[in-house]
Amino acid sequence: MHKSSARKITFTAVLFALCVILAYVEELIGPLPFLPPGVKLGLANIPIMYALFFVSAPSAFLMAVLKSLFIFLLKGFTAAALTFLGSIASVFCMWVLSRIRKPRLSYLTLSIAGAVMHNLGQLLGVWLLISRQLTYYLPVLILSGLVMGFLTGMVLKFLLPALDHLHLNKTVSSDSSRSLKCLLLILCLLLSSCSSHTGYSDPAVFTWYDLFDTYSSLTIYGEDTQEASQAADGLYEVLWKFHQETDIYHTYEGLRNLCSMNQANGSAVSVDQELFDFLTFAKDACSLSDGTVNILLGSVTSLWEETRRTAVLPDESALAQAMKHTDISTLLLDEDTLTVTLSDPESRLDAGALAKGYALRLAKSYLSRQGIENYLLSLGGSILVHGSPLGTGRDKFIIGLQDPKKPEGTYSRTVTMEYESCATSGDYQRYVDIDGVRYHHIIDPSTGYPSTRHHSVTVFCDDPALADVLSTALFCMTQEDGQALASSLQAEAVYQDEE
Ligand code: AMP
Ligand code: MG
Repeated sequence: MHKSSARKITFTAVLFALCVILAYVEELIGPLPFLPPGVKLGLANIPIMYALFFVSAPSAFLMAVLKSLFIFLLKGFTAAALTFLGSIASVFCMWVLSRIRKPRLSYLTLSIAGAVMHNLGQLLGVWLLISRQLTYYLPVLILSGLVMGFLTGMVLKFLLPALDHLHLNKTVSSDSSRSLKCLLLILCLLLSSCSSHTGYSDPAVFTWYDLFDTYSSLTIYGEDTQEASQAADGLYEVLWKFHQETDIYHTYEGLRNLCSMNQANGSAVSVDQELFDFLTFAKDACSLSDGTVNILLGSVTSLWEETRRTAVLPDESALAQAMKHTDISTLLLDEDTLTVTLSDPESRLDAGALAKGYALRLAKSYLSRQGIENYLLSLGGSILVHGSPLGTGRDKFIIGLQDPKKPEGTYSRTVTMEYESCATSGDYQRYVDIDGVRYHHIIDPSTGYPSTRHHSVTVFCDDPALADVLSTALFCMTQEDGQALASSLQAEAVYQDEE
């Protein structure tokens, strides 16, 4: 092998080792107090820049790739992809610029271009991998790139001549003077690799559950992966048990659930404490919501479910008949014997408006017992957040509100979570259109028909069970009454009723 290429390889290997050490050191140091939140120095870029200017462009690119692989092992795919895009974009940009112009571009131009490109590369990654809602960061990133690049360039502009002056007496060889200048250049360039979007890491757990007839997902941030996975498995057991208990379609071996109560024909059914507590909550929710959320509306909701399946409106007399069997006072709960009786054998339980929120309440206490602090759990339209979304560059959770008029997944706005939970009730979730009229799944107990007051109501509060009750309740009330009820319970409501 040619002597000089052997030297290059050795040099690249040494620089890469340094790069890995610096990346690791920066992880250990954590966020620096004198930098804005989410911004870090990018120490590992020093050896890459050094390689770019003193070894060769391919070795700099190779190092950027290897560094990304290392970050992958350390922090997972997302962080690695962002590192890769940022480093490659800035190295490539500076490399191209330093070649295409003669005389050479000033350090100022080079460092500004490198810094801006680094941030744009990372933003592209964020946009592709994390959230398409983040485009508003663009001006911030360009501005921070310009500022950091400018500062770097100015430092170079004033310090390099001073260095030249120092070395004029030739006591230091011109070679080492050049190295010194370049070291300074590199130290300054590393400042320009600051980015508001560094610090991303993959969550410890991201998993889907198929529960409560809806898509559910759990994301745990910043925990040991194994502990987080164990908690996620345990949580599934908790949620699956409650799913079975509140299931009105199936019975399960060895378990008394709402389905068994609906089939009990007026006799008492003994249940476990968890289900008993839930039914007590549901009964209280009915009076708290002024009767708008009634777990005993099952005889009516089942007729509308049939309508959604068949696109045939329910028979009016059948509907009127069903409405007679929804009196919440016929749900008898005996605390001493832990038994539940539907004293009206024709009445039917339907926990659809309450079960998901109550399940989130159970989830919250389970995860807190497991020591899991930072997570987002979503069960269909109900969301519970806790702690902060570590590794995402934000300290609060941001959720999107579905636009009731647009296809699923289209958000009308994003909301920073100031409360721990929210629930949405909407006329777009389950419905059938008959002769141009929409018949959806939320029934106004005062009429027996789907409520026509609103398109979508989202309620924010700290208790997910209450949020779920309130979203359904407010959907069936006037906005004025709903807002009053929400604020009396320290909750906030967002209505999306625009046509
Ligand atoms: P949500 O999406 O939380 O508003 O709950 C809607 C589900 O609750 C429906 O699919 C029905 O199963 C049930 N439901 C509909 N209207 C009511 C109501 N007024 N009170 C109680 N449960 C209802
Ligand atoms: Mg609800």
